Amino acid sequence: ARKFFVGGNWKCNGTTEEVKKIVTTLNEAEVPSEDVVEVVVSPPFVFLPFVKSLLRSDFHVAAQNCWVRKGGAFTGEVSAEMLVNLGIPWVILGHSERRALLNESNEFVGDKVAYALSQGLKVIACIGETLEQRESGSTMAVVAAQTKAIAEKVTNWDNVVLAYEPVWAIGTGKVATPAQAQEVHCELRNWVHDNVGAEVAAKVRIIYGGSVNGANCKELAGQPDVDGFLVGGASLKPEFVDIIKSAT
Ligand code: 13P
Repeated sequence: ARKFFVGGNWKCNGTTEEVKKIVTTLNEAEVPSEDVVEVVVSPPFVFLPFVKSLLRSDFHVAAQNCWVRKGGAFTGEVSAEMLVNLGIPWVILGHSERRALLNESNEFVGDKVAYALSQGLKVIACIGETLEQRESGSTMAVVAAQTKAIAEKVTNWDNVVLAYEPVWAIGTGKVATPAQAQEVHCELRNWVHDNVGAEVAAKVRIIYGGSVNGANCKELAGQPDVDGFLVGGASLKPEFVDIIKSAT
Protein backbone atom coordinates (compact mmCIF):
# COMPACT_ATOMS: atom_id res chain seq x y z
CA ALA A 1 0.00 0.00 0.00
CA ARG A 2 1.11 3.54 -0.70
CA LYS A 3 1.50 5.76 2.34
CA PHE A 4 -0.85 8.75 2.26
CA PHE A 5 0.97 12.04 1.67
CA VAL A 6 -0.22 15.50 2.62
CA GLY A 7 1.83 18.50 1.54
CA GLY A 8 1.17 22.10 2.46
CA ASN A 9 2.43 24.58 -0.10
CA TRP A 10 2.47 27.96 1.61
CA LYS A 11 3.53 29.67 -1.64
CA CYS A 12 4.71 33.28 -1.18
CA ASN A 13 2.83 33.89 2.06
CA GLY A 14 3.52 34.55 5.70
CA THR A 15 5.19 36.75 8.25
CA THR A 16 7.29 35.47 11.13
CA GLU A 17 4.26 35.80 13.42
CA GLU A 18 1.93 33.98 11.02
CA VAL A 19 4.46 31.23 10.49
CA LYS A 20 4.76 30.70 14.25
CA LYS A 21 1.00 30.48 14.52
CA ILE A 22 0.65 27.90 11.77
CA VAL A 23 3.43 25.77 13.20
CA THR A 24 1.95 25.95 16.70
CA THR A 25 -1.41 24.73 15.38
CA LEU A 26 0.31 21.84 13.59
CA ASN A 27 2.45 20.96 16.59
CA GLU A 28 -0.62 20.72 18.83
CA ALA A 29 -2.73 18.71 16.37
CA GLU A 30 -3.69 15.11 17.00
CA VAL A 31 -3.18 13.34 13.72
CA PRO A 32 -2.58 9.75 12.54
CA SER A 33 0.97 8.49 13.02
CA GLU A 34 3.85 8.86 10.60
CA ASP A 35 3.32 5.24 9.54
CA VAL A 36 -0.08 6.22 8.18
CA VAL A 37 0.45 9.69 6.74
CA GLU A 38 3.51 11.60 5.63
CA VAL A 39 3.13 15.33 6.30
CA VAL A 40 5.34 17.90 4.62
CA VAL A 41 4.99 21.68 4.79
CA SER A 42 6.63 24.05 2.38
CA PRO A 43 7.29 27.58 3.58
CA PRO A 44 9.11 30.21 1.54
CA PHE A 45 12.91 29.76 1.55
CA VAL A 46 13.53 32.50 4.11
CA PHE A 47 11.39 30.71 6.72
CA LEU A 48 12.66 27.17 6.05
CA PRO A 49 15.29 26.86 8.82
CA PHE A 50 12.95 28.61 11.28
CA VAL A 51 10.05 26.27 10.49
CA LYS A 52 12.30 23.24 10.53
CA SER A 53 13.57 24.18 14.00
CA LEU A 54 10.07 24.70 15.44
CA LEU A 55 8.14 21.92 13.71
CA ARG A 56 7.31 18.60 15.41
CA SER A 57 9.69 15.84 14.37
CA ASP A 58 7.08 13.65 12.64
CA PHE A 59 6.34 16.43 10.13
CA HIS A 60 8.87 17.47 7.51
CA VAL A 61 9.71 20.50 5.41
CA ALA A 62 10.05 21.13 1.69
CA ALA A 63 11.49 23.98 -0.34
CA GLN A 64 9.26 25.35 -3.09
CA ASN A 65 11.96 25.34 -5.74
CA CYS A 66 15.68 24.95 -6.28
CA TRP A 67 18.25 25.67 -8.95
CA VAL A 68 18.48 23.28 -11.87
CA ARG A 69 22.16 22.39 -11.43
CA LYS A 70 25.07 22.85 -9.06
CA GLY A 71 25.17 26.26 -7.40
CA GLY A 72 27.49 29.06 -8.42
CA ALA A 73 27.06 32.41 -10.13
CA PHE A 74 23.25 32.32 -10.28
CA THR A 75 22.05 35.42 -8.45
CA GLY A 76 18.84 34.92 -6.56
CA GLU A 77 18.82 31.13 -6.81
CA VAL A 78 19.06 28.49 -4.08
CA SER A 79 20.82 25.23 -4.88
CA ALA A 80 19.85 21.66 -4.08
CA GLU A 81 23.19 21.30 -2.25
CA MET A 82 22.23 24.12 0.11
CA LEU A 83 18.92 22.46 0.94
CA VAL A 84 20.73 19.21 1.66
CA ASN A 85 23.29 21.06 3.76
CA LEU A 86 20.48 22.56 5.85
CA GLY A 87 18.78 19.20 6.29
CA ILE A 88 15.76 20.10 4.16
CA PRO A 89 14.56 16.72 2.86
CA TRP A 90 11.99 17.71 0.22
CA VAL A 91 11.56 20.12 -2.67
CA ILE A 92 8.52 21.00 -4.78
CA LEU A 93 9.45 21.32 -8.46
CA GLY A 94 7.50 22.25 -11.57
CA HIS A 95 4.63 23.99 -9.84
CA SER A 96 2.23 25.42 -12.41
CA GLU A 97 2.78 28.94 -11.08
CA ARG A 98 6.46 28.62 -11.95
CA ARG A 99 5.72 26.96 -15.28
CA ALA A 100 3.28 29.74 -16.21
CA LEU A 101 4.80 32.85 -14.62
CA LEU A 102 8.50 31.98 -14.87
CA ASN A 103 8.37 30.04 -18.11
CA GLU A 104 9.69 26.76 -16.72
CA SER A 105 9.47 24.27 -19.58
CA ASN A 106 8.84 20.53 -19.30
CA GLU A 107 12.50 19.94 -20.11
CA PHE A 108 13.75 22.40 -17.49
CA VAL A 109 11.52 20.82 -14.86
CA GLY A 110 12.81 17.38 -15.85
CA ASP A 111 16.38 18.61 -15.41
CA LYS A 112 15.55 20.10 -12.02
CA VAL A 113 13.91 16.91 -10.78
CA ALA A 114 16.87 14.79 -11.89
CA TYR A 115 19.44 17.11 -10.34
CA ALA A 116 17.58 17.44 -7.02
CA LEU A 117 17.27 13.65 -6.80
CA SER A 118 20.96 13.23 -7.61
CA GLN A 119 21.78 15.39 -4.58
CA GLY A 120 19.60 13.27 -2.30
CA LEU A 121 16.49 15.43 -2.12
CA LYS A 122 13.00 13.98 -2.31
CA VAL A 123 10.86 15.65 -4.94
CA ILE A 124 7.20 16.60 -5.25
CA ALA A 125 6.96 16.97 -9.02
CA CYS A 126 3.93 18.95 -10.20
CA ILE A 127 2.00 18.50 -13.42
CA GLY A 128 -1.40 19.56 -14.66
CA GLU A 129 -3.40 20.98 -17.55
CA THR A 130 -4.97 24.41 -18.05
CA LEU A 131 -8.70 24.93 -18.52
CA GLU A 132 -8.17 25.52 -22.23
CA GLN A 133 -6.27 22.25 -22.54
CA ARG A 134 -8.96 20.35 -20.63
CA GLU A 135 -11.72 21.83 -22.76
CA SER A 136 -9.91 20.91 -25.95
CA GLY A 137 -9.59 17.32 -24.76
CA SER A 138 -5.83 17.30 -24.36
CA THR A 139 -5.57 16.76 -20.59
CA MET A 140 -3.92 13.36 -20.84
CA ALA A 141 -1.57 14.42 -23.64
CA VAL A 142 -0.43 17.40 -21.59
CA VAL A 143 0.17 15.54 -18.33
CA ALA A 144 1.81 12.66 -20.21
CA ALA A 145 4.25 15.07 -21.89
CA GLN A 146 5.04 16.70 -18.54
CA THR A 147 5.57 13.30 -16.92
CA LYS A 148 7.62 12.04 -19.87
CA ALA A 149 10.05 14.97 -19.56
CA ILE A 150 10.63 13.86 -15.96
CA ALA A 151 10.69 10.12 -16.69
CA GLU A 152 13.34 10.57 -19.37
CA LYS A 153 15.78 11.84 -16.76
CA VAL A 154 14.83 9.90 -13.65
CA THR A 155 16.06 6.38 -13.05
CA ASN A 156 15.01 5.89 -9.44
CA TRP A 157 11.45 6.86 -8.54
CA ASP A 158 11.67 5.96 -4.83
CA ASN A 159 11.99 9.62 -3.85
CA VAL A 160 9.43 11.07 -6.24
CA VAL A 161 5.83 12.03 -5.49
CA LEU A 162 3.78 13.13 -8.50
CA ALA A 163 1.37 15.98 -7.81
CA TYR A 164 -1.49 16.29 -10.28
CA GLU A 165 -2.67 19.87 -10.03
CA PRO A 166 -5.11 20.98 -12.72
CA VAL A 167 -4.38 24.67 -13.23
CA TRP A 168 -8.10 25.53 -13.39
CA ALA A 169 -8.53 24.17 -9.87
CA ILE A 170 -5.63 26.03 -8.26
CA GLY A 171 -6.72 28.90 -6.04
CA THR A 172 -10.09 29.06 -7.79
CA GLY A 173 -12.31 27.21 -5.34
CA LYS A 174 -13.19 24.94 -8.28
CA VAL A 175 -11.98 21.59 -7.00
CA ALA A 176 -11.83 18.65 -9.41
CA THR A 177 -14.62 16.20 -8.69
CA PRO A 178 -13.47 12.94 -7.14
CA ALA A 179 -14.27 11.25 -10.47
CA GLN A 180 -12.25 13.80 -12.46
CA ALA A 181 -9.26 13.41 -10.15
CA GLN A 182 -9.49 9.62 -10.12
CA GLU A 183 -9.71 9.48 -13.91
CA VAL A 184 -6.48 11.42 -14.44
CA HIS A 185 -4.64 9.72 -11.56
CA CYS A 186 -5.57 6.31 -12.96
CA GLU A 187 -4.51 7.25 -16.48
CA LEU A 188 -1.25 8.66 -15.11
CA ARG A 189 -0.57 5.46 -13.23
CA ASN A 190 -1.24 3.53 -16.43
CA TRP A 191 1.16 5.83 -18.27
CA VAL A 192 3.83 5.14 -15.67
CA HIS A 193 3.08 1.41 -15.93
CA ASP A 194 3.53 1.40 -19.69
CA ASN A 195 6.47 3.81 -19.90
CA VAL A 196 8.43 3.29 -16.70
CA GLY A 197 7.38 -0.04 -15.28
CA ALA A 198 4.82 -1.98 -13.30
CA GLU A 199 6.69 -1.79 -10.00
CA VAL A 200 7.07 1.99 -10.09
CA ALA A 201 3.42 2.39 -11.15
CA ALA A 202 2.27 0.37 -8.17
CA LYS A 203 4.48 2.27 -5.74
CA VAL A 204 4.56 5.90 -6.87
CA ARG A 205 2.28 8.22 -4.98
CA ILE A 206 0.09 10.45 -7.11
CA ILE A 207 -1.37 13.26 -5.04
CA TYR A 208 -4.01 15.79 -6.01
CA GLY A 209 -3.81 19.57 -5.67
CA GLY A 210 -6.25 22.36 -6.45
CA SER A 211 -8.77 23.89 -4.03
CA VAL A 212 -8.53 21.01 -1.56
CA ASN A 213 -10.09 21.94 1.77
CA GLY A 214 -11.35 20.42 4.96
CA ALA A 215 -14.77 19.79 3.47
CA ASN A 216 -13.88 18.16 0.14
CA CYS A 217 -10.79 16.16 1.11
CA LYS A 218 -12.47 13.06 2.48
CA GLU A 219 -14.27 12.06 -0.70
CA LEU A 220 -11.21 12.76 -2.84
CA ALA A 221 -9.06 10.73 -0.45
CA GLY A 222 -11.40 7.79 -0.95
CA GLN A 223 -10.46 7.46 -4.64
CA PRO A 224 -8.24 4.44 -5.23
CA ASP A 225 -5.52 6.33 -7.14
CA VAL A 226 -5.52 9.50 -5.03
CA ASP A 227 -2.65 9.00 -2.59
CA GLY A 228 -2.81 12.34 -0.86
CA PHE A 229 -2.85 16.06 -1.47
CA LEU A 230 -0.82 19.13 -2.20
CA VAL A 231 -2.69 21.93 -0.48
CA GLY A 232 -2.27 25.65 -1.08
CA GLY A 233 -4.62 28.12 0.59
CA ALA A 234 -6.03 25.69 3.16
CA SER A 235 -2.52 24.73 4.31
CA LEU A 236 -2.28 28.16 5.96
CA LYS A 237 -5.38 27.48 8.03
CA PRO A 238 -6.29 25.15 10.90
CA GLU A 239 -8.35 23.02 8.48
CA PHE A 240 -5.05 21.65 7.16
CA VAL A 241 -5.26 19.34 10.18
CA ASP A 242 -8.58 17.96 8.89
CA ILE A 243 -6.94 17.32 5.53
CA ILE A 244 -4.15 15.39 7.25
CA LYS A 245 -6.81 13.36 9.06
CA SER A 246 -8.46 12.39 5.77
CA ALA A 247 -5.68 9.83 5.48
CA THR A 248 -7.73 7.41 7.56
P1 13P B 1 -4.90 25.84 -3.67
O1 13P B 1 -5.09 24.72 -2.67
O2 13P B 1 -4.84 27.19 -3.02
O3 13P B 1 -5.90 25.75 -4.78
O4 13P B 1 -3.46 25.62 -4.33
C1 13P B 1 -3.09 24.36 -4.76
C2 13P B 1 -1.65 24.36 -5.09
O5 13P B 1 -1.20 25.00 -6.02
C3 13P B 1 -0.74 23.56 -4.24
O6 13P B 1 0.52 23.48 -4.78
